[in-house]
Amino acid sequence: MSADPIDRHGLSPRFWERKALTELSEKEWEALCDGCGKCCLNKLEDEETGHVELTRVACRLFDDSTCRCAQYEIRHQFVPECIVLKPTNIDSHAYWMPQTCAYRLVWEGKPLYDWHPLISGTAQSVHDAGVSVKDRTVPEFEVHEDDWEDHIIEEPT
Ligand code: SF4
Ligand code: SF4
Repeated sequence: MSADPIDRHGLSPRFWERKALTELSEKEWEALCDGCGKCCLNKLEDEETGHVELTRVACRLFDDSTCRCAQYEIRHQFVPECIVLKPTNIDSHAYWMPQTCAYRLVWEGKPLYDWHPLISGTAQSVHDAGVSVKDRTVPEFEVHEDDWEDHIIEEPT
């Protein structure tokens, strides 16, 4: 059973259905992340079509065994390009985000899945549902960027 590093206690029931993304508190915004880890995988984007393919090659800070960023608070010291998703920039990022990402779902006006920790009450449900990338990735320092296309995967949904 994996512990949930995100504090989801004391939040209003179904707050994401009653508030706009821009109205969420910082704690509510952070609690929306389901911990699937899919945004930490490298993607390949076709410059002409904008089509995005997911690879199983994970960011150098991704811990495959916990499915978490190993240095989340200070990650920009090591990975300056890591995007800080906000209500004000999600419009420009949603196209590449995983289909099951809670931020993308709420932004699209769709409901969260029953396995989301805010609904199930446990972070483990994401892994049990098979939608996370826990124990499924390879670290980017083991795969040259030219070979990433050999590691393209379907998004686990
Ligand atoms: S894809 Fe979305 S829900 Fe999954 S870990 Fe990333 S931000 Fe969180
Ligand atoms: S720095 Fe951390 S949060 Fe950002 S992509 Fe890498 S593992 Fe994920």
